[in-house]
Amino acid sequence: MAHIDPERLTLIAFGEPVSAQETAHLEHCQVCTDSLSETRIVIGVGRGAHQVRDLPAPSEDVWQRISAEAFAQPPAVPEARSGSSAPSDPWPRPRQDRKAWRSALLALAAVLIGIAGTLGAQSLRTLRDKTPNIVAEASLGSKNVATRSVQGRVTIVDTGHGLQMKVDVAGMPTTPGYYAVWLYDGADTMIALGTLGSAPLNLPASASNLSRFSIVDISAQKLGQQSHGVSMLQGALRKG
Ligand SMILES: [Zn+2]
Repeated sequence: MAHIDPERLTLIAFGEPVSAQETAHLEHCQVCTDSLSETRIVIGVGRGAHQVRDLPAPSEDVWQRISAEAFAQPPAVPEARSGSSAPSDPWPRPRQDRKAWRSALLALAAVLIGIAGTLGAQSLRTLRDKTPNIVAEASLGSKNVATRSVQGRVTIVDTGHGLQMKVDVAGMPTTPGYYAVWLYDGADTMIALGTLGSAPLNLPASASNLSRFSIVDISAQKLGQQSHGVSMLQGALRKG
């Protein structure tokens, strides 16, 4: 099946209704889903965020720069409807100008996507990291004399492709081995998530039940040690 036209994806990202056929395609196509979510990030219309109608009107200056970039013949600045228009009415667009409005949106998106393109995928990822869907958080407290002054914070986000944990701690003592991050059920099961560091850790499906695995544990490990070492920090997850 052919992918969804990029122009359509842009309009969808701006809040245009999605057809049943497109919905079905998006359910199965990672390429289009990724492209849609990146477009949404770029244009700042994230999940649960504002729709087009909530966007503020562009200043004339901004509008002309967008137009100049996108059209050989720049269209006029969309005119505010006089009279009936409330002062807060954003970016008015008369019905007869629907086509011009769509072209303008596509042009705006093209400019924004162009800018994002020059910033690069890394910046886009950073941008995405700044608007995470946090599902749980924890404050870490010391479990060991060596870390009594260390505090940390854990956030777990739903990336749309699974859960991901980020651990921020500063001032951990140096160790001959390494620190590992675990999820603990408070009884007899600990699941290793990976090494403590700045990279986010992907939660395996077996640990995705955060009601059961509700404790985050940071342990000191000897090199090569597979089993849980010495607890250094621990904290209980709260639903975000
Ligand atoms: Zn597709």
